[in-house]
Amino acid sequence: MTQKPPITERARTSLDLLYTISRELAAQLDLRQLLQRVLQLTLENVGAASGSILVLDEAGRVSEGALAFGGAVHDHTAQQLSDTFDRGLAGWVVEHRQAALVPSTRDDPRWLRRPGEQTDGESRSAISVPLIARDRVVGAVTLVHPQVGYFSEEDLALITAIGDQAGVAVENARLYSAERERRRFASTLQEIARTISSALDPALVFPQVLEQLERVIQFESASIQAIDGDRLRLVAARGFADNEAVLGSTMEIREDVFVGRVLSTRKPIVVDDVQQDAAWIKTDDLPESFLIRGWIGAPLLVRDRAVGVLNVDSHRVGAYGPAEVDVVMAFADHAATAVLNAQLFAESQRQVHAMVALADTARAVSASLNLDVVLHRITEQTRSSLGVESALLWLLDEGNGELQFRAASGPRAEAMAGRRISLEQSIAGWAARTGEAVVVEDAASDARFDGRLDRELGFETRQIACAPIQVQDRILGVLEAINPDRGEFPPDQVDLLRGIAGLAGTAIAHAQLFAETQAARQLYAGLFEDSIDPILITDLGGAITDANDRAESFLGYGREDLLGKLALSLQEPEQEMTPDDLAALQPGQTISYRARAWHADGHSLPIEVHTKRIDIGRQPFLQWILRDISERLELDELRGDLTSMLFHDLRSPLGNIISSLEMLQTSAPKKDEGTHSILSIALRSSRRLSRLVDSLLDVGQLEAGKAVLHKTTAPIRSVIAEAVEEVHAVAENKGHALQFRLPADLPQVEMDVDMIRRVLINLLENAIKYTRAGGKITASARRSKGQITVSVSDTGPGIPAREQQHIFDKFTRIQGEGRAKGLGLGLAFCRLAIEAHGGRLWVESEEGKGSTFSFSLPV
Ligand code: ADP
Repeated sequence: MTQKPPITERARTSLDLLYTISRELAAQLDLRQLLQRVLQLTLENVGAASGSILVLDEAGRVSEGALAFGGAVHDHTAQQLSDTFDRGLAGWVVEHRQAALVPSTRDDPRWLRRPGEQTDGESRSAISVPLIARDRVVGAVTLVHPQVGYFSEEDLALITAIGDQAGVAVENARLYSAERERRRFASTLQEIARTISSALDPALVFPQVLEQLERVIQFESASIQAIDGDRLRLVAARGFADNEAVLGSTMEIREDVFVGRVLSTRKPIVVDDVQQDAAWIKTDDLPESFLIRGWIGAPLLVRDRAVGVLNVDSHRVGAYGPAEVDVVMAFADHAATAVLNAQLFAESQRQVHAMVALADTARAVSASLNLDVVLHRITEQTRSSLGVESALLWLLDEGNGELQFRAASGPRAEAMAGRRISLEQSIAGWAARTGEAVVVEDAASDARFDGRLDRELGFETRQIACAPIQVQDRILGVLEAINPDRGEFPPDQVDLLRGIAGLAGTAIAHAQLFAETQAARQLYAGLFEDSIDPILITDLGGAITDANDRAESFLGYGREDLLGKLALSLQEPEQEMTPDDLAALQPGQTISYRARAWHADGHSLPIEVHTKRIDIGRQPFLQWILRDISERLELDELRGDLTSMLFHDLRSPLGNIISSLEMLQTSAPKKDEGTHSILSIALRSSRRLSRLVDSLLDVGQLEAGKAVLHKTTAPIRSVIAEAVEEVHAVAENKGHALQFRLPADLPQVEMDVDMIRRVLINLLENAIKYTRAGGKITASARRSKGQITVSVSDTGPGIPAREQQHIFDKFTRIQGEGRAKGLGLGLAFCRLAIEAHGGRLWVESEEGKGSTFSFSLPV
């Protein structure tokens, strides 16, 4: 026990002390050493045995200090110091900003008593003063002496003086070290951020995080654990006896274990002594787990999700407080950023990979239009892009409800040729039926899997991914990837497969379309070349772009000479044809006309032209078929000549028959009605036959444009009367009422009387024939300026409007139930005959109400 020095000596030493302290304080910026020194000097000079000095941070917590007992300054723990502060004399001093002199600790309630300590134990004396700097209490110095009443008021004054000086020095040192700390911390974090942004592999970043952390926080060991499935895996370690050995070790994630709690609460945990807590797991695999006491566990948070834990371990109890937690959290955030970066990078890497793969596929498949080549390239690309053992392509055979093998890359590919699998009993079939992509990680245990193919081929299918190949909504087939090299399909791999299958769909559709177009083109080319008709192909302006062999020989030009010529310059249409008519043609529409085609040597041939708008590969063209009709026309002419000859030769025998019959009729007894009736029938029929022959001959002549030769001037009235007389009997037989409506002043007309009479008889006979029994037939005539108009009206079935133009054509007859039959020649003759007289023949009719045929002749 030290003896208290005499007062004068003490006053001197006090001055010395103050001087020494102020010198030392000015030089010392290391707070810890400074505190120890202040405490040491104070103890020595006051002659105290024990004491403490502590410093508070800005938040008022004990941040640093020193403890002395037995006359020497010792190592301390923050825990011990904060105890003193919170519950002891120093706390009171700081709180009241006031020095305290305690003569007897036993009697002073401000004195800290440890639990179990006897209040009536040995009493001591104590003195405590606040350290004040810039009007703020930054700490306290407390001295203790075993002797009651040891400290005097002078001591208090001395210590207070020291305290005032020390306060500023301590604050300076604290600020200095805090600043230095901050700077070091900032530069460390910066360095880490640099490391992280330049490295994308967490395996590289984590050890660096730990290395940097060591520069700002003391620890025995530190580690990073990352969530791996349902366990935590140790991915970085520092400071362990064998860092390599602990790497990779895993542990269960449990709520009742510290790390589990860190993950679930996503909040850091700081523990003074983990050994006291059941939530700490000790394992022989990690010998340090028995030694660690102070511990911080900080979560690695990625987008609000805890992905791991940063552990900081100390063998010292109470090694870490809130300040360290903040630091560790900052590092944990950095480590988490590394994880996030790595995830993003891996994601973007995969996306880049997928995009490159798709672009490669697109390039590979679009380079060819040959379907087999395209399909093979698709499987090759699938195999390399997805990294699989084998890739297969099946095309749907809808007729049979099967998938037909088309291409493969990988082992046993050749052995697949010709194989088929059912839609119902295969994974590929399932994809084809549902139109959905599928990944099967264990084929053998999938009900859809058909193992027969494997057995036949000696192959083992473990994992399968299938994607339907489709174009719009139509499924064309299935693309299948088997056995990924990595043992399983990464999550987004099926998207890549779907992407390739999508490209495959388009490529297959193109190749098929191309093949079809090729076939159609070949077929067309065949038809084009082999056609017996000359064919020209022109653009819409009529310039020749192609011609077949027959067109060359028919027109007398070489193909080269034909190209570029206007199709219309090689022909002379009977009707007018302009380039506008061609341009107005709609796709598939045809115009047909007759023309004369000009041969290269100058002669011309009759042709029938069929010009049609066709589209070749989306380009519009005109196809001209020039049908040579010269032979047909020659044949027509020949037939015409033959008929005329025939009819001509019929004429005189017919004339003889008629005159003989007439003679018989006059010579037959008047009373013999039977003979008369038979003779008049025979006579009527013969006359009809004769008229028919005459008309047929006339038609030929008139068509050939021959003029009417036997014109005489005669009264039209008598011609009408004769005609009516001729048909009278037949009309009566059918119960028709035959009427005249003829004005008195009918003129003379210049005409071939026989021909006009035949025209009238024809019109009357038609009226009688087509009108049902009991009808009314009226022959009328009316004179108007410069012409006479003769009409025959009936109450028959009438003529549909659409037929009215055609009935005047040769051999045209209206088909219909209940209609009388005829040759369809009569009206053609009538019109030719009337027109040959410079007149006109027409019909006015309403269906069901009768018809009126009229002709006009000039007078
Ligand atoms: P056909 O020898 O058939 O009578 P036509 O040239 O005289 O030949 O007549 C052509 C067609 O016109 C006939 O088939 C008939 O269908 C129709 N036709 C002619 N006259 C009449 C009429 N008065 N009433 C109704 N249809 C008629």
